[in-house]
Amino acid sequence: MALSSRLTRRLRSARTWIALGVLAPIGMLLTSGLMLLDLRRDAWDKAEQTSKNLLQVIERDIARNVEIFDLSLQAVVDNLRTPGLDAVTPEMRQLVLFDRAGTARDVGVTLVIDERGEIAADSGALPARKGNYADREYFQVHQRRADLGLYVGRPLVSRLTGERMLPFSRRIDKPDGSFGGVALGTLKLTYFSRLFDQLGLGPEGAINLYLRDGTRIMRHLYEEADIGVNIAGAPTFRRFVGERSGSFVGTSVRDGVERHYAFTQVGDLPLVLNVALATADIEAGWRSKAAVIGGVVLVLCGLTAVLSLSFGRELRRRDAMQAELARLSCTDSLTGLANRRRFDDVFETAWASARRTGKPLSLLIVDADHFKRFNDRYGHAVGDEVLRGLARCLSASVHRPDDLVARVGGEEFAVLLPDTDAHGAARIASKVHAVIETLAVASAGIGAGSVTVSVGLASGAGRSGEEPEALYRAADAALYAAKEGGRDQTRCAPPYGPGSYAGIWVTRSVRRRGDQGSR
Ligand code: GH3
Ligand code: MG
Ligand code: MG
Repeated sequence: MALSSRLTRRLRSARTWIALGVLAPIGMLLTSGLMLLDLRRDAWDKAEQTSKNLLQVIERDIARNVEIFDLSLQAVVDNLRTPGLDAVTPEMRQLVLFDRAGTARDVGVTLVIDERGEIAADSGALPARKGNYADREYFQVHQRRADLGLYVGRPLVSRLTGERMLPFSRRIDKPDGSFGGVALGTLKLTYFSRLFDQLGLGPEGAINLYLRDGTRIMRHLYEEADIGVNIAGAPTFRRFVGERSGSFVGTSVRDGVERHYAFTQVGDLPLVLNVALATADIEAGWRSKAAVIGGVVLVLCGLTAVLSLSFGRELRRRDAMQAELARLSCTDSLTGLANRRRFDDVFETAWASARRTGKPLSLLIVDADHFKRFNDRYGHAVGDEVLRGLARCLSASVHRPDDLVARVGGEEFAVLLPDTDAHGAARIASKVHAVIETLAVASAGIGAGSVTVSVGLASGAGRSGEEPEALYRAADAALYAAKEGGRDQTRCAPPYGPGSYAGIWVTRSVRRRGDQGSR
């Protein structure tokens, strides 16, 4: 019960709604920000997994095909040592040297090249086509070194078919171990381009195959100019070679596009393969989602903030209006003083306080003398002006914050003086007479000294069993005595109970006593 009423009070507070208008959007922004970060992480995880899978598939395909291709070359080298091979017919020699692997779709030519660079046997033609390959890099490398095994050369254009090829070669040793030529097999670059083109990678995605020396063998998407380019000096390539396999985000030296690179060496071959997805492609789906979610959240935040803040402002205005109404309900509209209702409240509180503390409480009831005559002579409006003037005079006569001046009737005022005994109250009454003596309404021709008041003074400490009304009645009776005594004077009530109101302490009324008869 207490909890629900506390909650209701909170919900009615403008501050709660203003705080809600600020905190709710911040909370929404934080939550959706975290959610978007999570979605971005997911997009990256998916991209990394995709690159890794593609890389693995391509790497295995290349490694397996090159292995088969190499086995054919090894067979050529081995078969050259078959005894009596020189004695058989060219057709038989062809059958012994080359298996059917040489007829596979992407295989270019398989040749036996002798130590002078001339074609000694040709899997694709009988008799062998003419040509000298002594100038080729792979020929010279094998000529220089006997321990290379399978050598993968740089991409080249076939002299026999005019197609782009990747040369694989093995050295042929003579029986004495000296250089006896090269077994050469070429793989069409279309093998790689077909393999790479099957894979969808996004508009800026790329797959690259390099030789370990940095020479690009193939790129997806294919561009003639990319083939054979050496990027050994690029920071990205240095990482490919240095780490064997892995992934990182880097900027391409080729086109300046930022990409996520997943890379690996192909089997034990001197080949480096990478799958590169553009950062923009990876985040494209996420970006469009983030734009929609972000937009919606921003609009909702804006709405929440505007609604909560305006609701809070409305509550604040309502509170201010209520406060103003409360103030007006306690204020006398003519004079701006406290009205009777407020006086009653304050009087009761002051009475209770005096009873508790034993301190004195005094009350003056001030009534304008012959006020009816002002109205009759000058009109009601001037009468009002005089009342406002009296209010100002009374307010000017008291100074303590707890003193209260109220208009309690038509031309009747009350001055409540807490913590003030009868002597103190008489001094205030005296001041009231003195200040009112200066009151004038020049516009109506009412000069200073024309307005006088009679004052009834009562003083006491709230004693148990007595009500505040007793003090009021005493002051009222003293006022009556002042009127009876000729007006323009203050009479003090005796301590409670019947008695005379003879004590006249106010100088002005004493000074004027002689005038009474003439008025
Ligand atoms: P007394 O000295 O015996 O108090 O004489 P009095 O004429 O002041 O007293 P009485 O009670 O006979 O008349 C009070 C007059 O105060 C009557 C009324 O017209 C006038 N009055 C009361 N309220 C207002 C007011 O708000 N404005 C004006 N202009 N006059 C008021
Ligand atoms: Mg009067
Ligand atoms: Mg009166």
